[in-house]
Amino acid sequence: PLALLEDPGLLKTEALIGGAWVTGQDVQARFAVTDPATGAELAQVAKLGPVDCAAAISAAEKAWPAWRARTAKERAAVMMKWFQLLHRHADDLARIMTAEQGKPLAEARSEVIYGASFIEWFAEEARRVYGETIPTTDNNKRYLVLKQPVGVCAAITPWNFPIAMITRKVAPALAAGCPVIIKPAEQTPLSALAVAELAQRAGMPAGVLNVITADAENSIEIGKVLCSSDVVRHLSFTGSTEVGRILARQSAGTVKKLSLELGGNAPFIVFDDADLDSAVDGALASKYRNAGQTCVCANRIYAQAGIHDAFVEKLAARAAAITVGNGFTAGVMQGPLIDDAAIAKVEAHVADALAKGGRLVLGGERDATLGGRFFTPTVIAGVTDEMLCAREETFGPVAPVFRFETEAEVIAAANATEFGLASYFYSRDIGRIFRVAEALEYGMVGINTGLISTAEVPFGGVKQSGLGREGARQGIDDYVELKYLCLGDI
Ligand code: ADP
Repeated sequence: PLALLEDPGLLKTEALIGGAWVTGQDVQARFAVTDPATGAELAQVAKLGPVDCAAAISAAEKAWPAWRARTAKERAAVMMKWFQLLHRHADDLARIMTAEQGKPLAEARSEVIYGASFIEWFAEEARRVYGETIPTTDNNKRYLVLKQPVGVCAAITPWNFPIAMITRKVAPALAAGCPVIIKPAEQTPLSALAVAELAQRAGMPAGVLNVITADAENSIEIGKVLCSSDVVRHLSFTGSTEVGRILARQSAGTVKKLSLELGGNAPFIVFDDADLDSAVDGALASKYRNAGQTCVCANRIYAQAGIHDAFVEKLAARAAAITVGNGFTAGVMQGPLIDDAAIAKVEAHVADALAKGGRLVLGGERDATLGGRFFTPTVIAGVTDEMLCAREETFGPVAPVFRFETEAEVIAAANATEFGLASYFYSRDIGRIFRVAEALEYGMVGINTGLISTAEVPFGGVKQSGLGREGARQGIDDYVELKYLCLGDI
C-alpha cells in the first residue's frame, strides 16, 4: 500500500535528531513495521537505544535557548505552516496510518485532520500565554507572575492514534517554547516520522522536534533514560495505566513534571427516558470506532430495565451491519486489531463473560472468512460485575450490556473502578442530567453523545486514569512554569 504515496518523500525510516535523519549508534540495527491486516512487512525502521536517546536530549537542550527566545508569534508561524502541510498531505498520511495501524482509510484521514487541529489550536494559543499582576499587600512592593517554558519535554505515545496523540503533546510544548523528543509506539513509527518530515519542511529549527524510534525492548531502555535525565523537565505519556505507573516511579528521582493519559473503563448509561435511537447511535460511535481501540471507548454499557431489551436488539442490529475488512477496501468500517495480543485479550474477555453466564447476542469470534486479527462486532447481554470485561479495558469491538433498575445503583456501579477517564449517559430529564453528570467520578462526561473529543476542550482523567489535561487553553499549562517576581523598593 505504501507504493501508492503521492509523495514518497514522506516515507521515512530513520530517526530525527538535531535536524538530521539518522540511524542509531548501531547503524545496522532495525526493526520491522508490519501491516496488522496482513502481517506483511512494510518497512525496516532505525532501532535506537539509550545512547541515541542521550544524543536527542542534548540536541533538544541545545535548541532550547533559540526556540524560547523567539516570540510566540514567530513560533506560531512555523506551527501554522506545519498544520497546513498536514492538511495538504492528509491523503498520504492516512495511507501510511492505515498501512501500519489498520484503521479504515476514511477514519485515518479524519485522524490526520483531528491531529492537525491541535497544531492549529496551540499555534493560536501561543500568543495567549498570559502572566498576571497581583494587587499588592505592601505599597513598597509589586507582585508579578511570569509564565516560562518548562524546558526539554519528552512524549511517549501509543499506536491507537499514531498522529493525534503526538500532536496534542508536541503542539502545546512547542507553543510554550519547549523543544521535544518523541518516542512513538513501535507499531506505528512511520506516521510519526512522516509528520516529523513535514515539521522539517515547515521550517522547524534543528533539535526543536526530535523523533527517536525503537522496538518494544529498546523503548523500555529509552524510557529509563528519559525519566532519569535532569535535562528532560517534563514527560507526557499516553498508554496503559501499568506503563504509566512505571514511568511515574522512574521519574520520581528527578521530580519530573508528568502528564499522563492512561487507561479508562468508560461506562455508557442509557436511562429509560433516553432517546433510544440516539443512544444506539452514540453507543455504536463510542464502542466500535477504531475497532474499539480507544481509551474513551464505551467499555461497560448499562441499560435501564424499561428499555434494556429494545436497546440490546437495536444495538445488535446496527452492529451486525458494520463491515469488517482491510482498511484500504472501500466501504470497510472496522479494520483489524493491532496485534495478536489484542485479539487474545478480546477472546479472553468474551470467553470469560460467556463462562460466567453472559448471553452472546452478536459476534463473539474472529471474522469467519478474514480470520487473523479481524474480530466481528460483538454484543453480550447479561453482564455482571464479576466478569473481566466489567473490570478491565477490553480494547476491542465487544459491547457488554448490564441491566440496571435505579439511578443510584448505576452511579455506584459506574464509579466502582480505579479508572476515571470518559463516561457517557443518555437521558432527556434535565434534573437527572445534572445529578448524574455531577456524580460521575470521571474527567469527561458525554451527555446524549458518544463523541466528545476536539482540540478546544480539556481531555483527561481523574483517579488512576491520569494527570493533567490535553487540548483546550489549559493544555498548555503543563508546559509552562509559573515564576513569581516580588519587586521591592518602589
Ligand atoms: P499499549 O497497551 O497501548 O500498547 P503501552 O502502554 O504498552 O500501550 O505503550 C504505549 C507506549 O509506551 C509505546 O510507545 C511503548 O513503546 C511505550 N512503552 C511501553 N513500555 C514502556 C516502558 N517500560 N518504558 C517506556 N516506554 C514504554
